[in-house]
Amino acid sequence: MKLLVVEDDSTISGPLRTGLSREGFDVEVAATGAQALAAPIPDLVLLDLGLPDLDGRVVCRRLREVSDVPIIVVTARGDELERVTLLELGADDYMVKPYGFRELVARIRAVLRRAGTTTGQDPNEPRDLGMIRIDPRTRRVTRSGDVLSLTPKEFDLLAYLSSEPNAVFSRDEIIRDVWDENWWGSTKTLDVHIASLRKKIGAEMIETVRGVGFRVIDPDNPE
Ligand code: CA
Repeated sequence: MKLLVVEDDSTISGPLRTGLSREGFDVEVAATGAQALAAPIPDLVLLDLGLPDLDGRVVCRRLREVSDVPIIVVTARGDELERVTLLELGADDYMVKPYGFRELVARIRAVLRRAGTTTGQDPNEPRDLGMIRIDPRTRRVTRSGDVLSLTPKEFDLLAYLSSEPNAVFSRDEIIRDVWDENWWGSTKTLDVHIASLRKKIGAEMIETVRGVGFRVIDPDNPE
């Protein structure tokens, strides 16, 4: 996976390159908007909006004009940048500085997953997570062969999270994909469903990742 980090501050881009390389990404750094636009199209762009030459928004729009590359925009705290504006520019997600490295990696993976760049398993194949089996075709969940009684939404949520065991899904992404609602809605609803799902399949099966979202643990292949 090739990442293009567009960032003029080398005290930020240096550690980012090191950290993201350690996560298995192939990282290129562009220190200006012009460099970013001249670079080969990567698999994902991490774009700082405060650049010395061009407005980051212009860079975002121009990138979007020439490719479908996923773009995560980075803004400084205090920038009054509406999510709506970012979506209009074609950004896939955004982060506010200062952000945690772990959250960044989770979001990069989430955006790549949504873009279909990562290889997942067949979405209709039954999945085993320890004693829990999730069968998307019959919409049934069993534990050691016993059928668990899940509501349709609980099933959708579990099927979604288990589509990539151990991977972190952000709250926003879950709400958007499972509830199909607007960005700001139903955060409480998500927590209620997570709580009831934990009661049914075992609290240890779903981990809360602070500041990001949730992941389903595969007990046979924990990461
Ligand atoms: Ca900057």
